[in-house]
Amino acid sequence: MKAIPRDKPVYVGTGTDIIDFEPIKAVTIILRTTGCHWRRCKMCNYYLEQAPPPLSEEDLISQIDHAISKFPEGDLIVKIFTSGSFFDEREIPRGVQESILRRLPRDQIRKLIIETRPEFVTRSAISTAVEIFDSFEVAIGLETTNDEIRSRCIEKGFSFEDFKRAVEVARACGAGVRTYLLLKPPYLTEREAIDDMLRSARDLIPYTRTISLNLTTVRKNTPLHSLWKEGYYRPPWLWSAVEVMRRIREDPRFDDIAIISDPIGAGKPWGPHNCKRCDNRVKDAIRRFSITQDVRDLTAIECRCKKLWEVVLQLERFTFGVPLP
Ligand SMILES: [Zn+2]
Repeated sequence: MKAIPRDKPVYVGTGTDIIDFEPIKAVTIILRTTGCHWRRCKMCNYYLEQAPPPLSEEDLISQIDHAISKFPEGDLIVKIFTSGSFFDEREIPRGVQESILRRLPRDQIRKLIIETRPEFVTRSAISTAVEIFDSFEVAIGLETTNDEIRSRCIEKGFSFEDFKRAVEVARACGAGVRTYLLLKPPYLTEREAIDDMLRSARDLIPYTRTISLNLTTVRKNTPLHSLWKEGYYRPPWLWSAVEVMRRIREDPRFDDIAIISDPIGAGKPWGPHNCKRCDNRVKDAIRRFSITQDVRDLTAIECRCKKLWEVVLQLERFTFGVPLP
């Protein structure tokens, strides 16, 4: 087996994101740590990107230096992930967290976003980040506001109340919040998955400025992969993502909240997909909309398979949990 390099991040890439509905160049960094300590979510295998411990302070510092060397010029939004939680001290000791933040080019960064589970959102962690960066956001993978779906279908291991507490701590420290929702965890019909997202988005209005819609993908070595192989799971239709994003954008209650999505694996059998003909077009429309927030980007696309998707929404109620293709 190839040795995992400890001094290089899992990923550094550039793209586009938005701040206050304005597009801006974005850098995404995934640091290699010892990985998530929870590891029970049914769709997740990110912890396989871990490096076996011990990972030294030097390793983590050279990872961030490597990432910084790839930064493009100009104003940036920088998003830092680990294959777990940046603020979990088992992954990155507090002192190293601070060293990493201090190495980032502050003058160039308009906003810094760091992902973490809510239990690691503490005053000491967040206030350090806010002290260094005026514009700092905590990103949390809440997935759904429905505790039953989050625990039974995902096994996420925290509650909506835990999330609310984290938001309160983040805000008290002067940080913003970005929330990830998960469209279509296992055991939901397509219609239930859409309704779950619309309800979750409404519940989140007081708590978040950005909702990032993750479309479930089937990853190897996960319980979801076994379900999918047996024919008990179909990843979400891209039409479902379009429907969720359109209905949120058209609702004036969300006028201050951006709704974005980057459909990973779109068009693949293991990723969100429609028919083969329109997958790329619909994926591009979702990406474009995520930057413009202009609902016409979503309503302009059509394909014959949309009718089939509408039929699926009607009929799956009668197939007792077995997905229609
Ligand atoms: Zn189609």
